[in-house]
Amino acid sequence: MSNSHASCGSIREWLDAYVDGEIAHCGGLSEQEFVDHVTQCTGCLTEVVAARRVKSALARAHAPEEVPGDVYDRVSLRVREAGRETWIQWQSDQIEMWARD
Ligand SMILES: [Zn+2]
Repeated sequence: MSNSHASCGSIREWLDAYVDGEIAHCGGLSEQEFVDHVTQCTGCLTEVVAARRVKSALARAHAPEEVPGDVYDRVSLRVREAGRETWIQWQSDQIEMWARD
């Protein structure tokens, strides 16, 4: 394994793009570098897992029979109100509640 030059900062900066499958747009950070870092860094791994859960929850939020229709609107509002890290943490908390079924 070669050493990755990805830093926690760059990982978290591009985390959303990675989760969205847009790693090609991640400013020189390759998918392999991203994966290498995340598999060695618990902090970033936690962020990726949280972001993936957010993504799947947002997909579910488009299904009105599963999630109240105003969830997506409230989420969008929170994105504007909160910083990104706060947003991810908030989403994790929401998903923990939604996931209890
Ligand atoms: Zn890291």
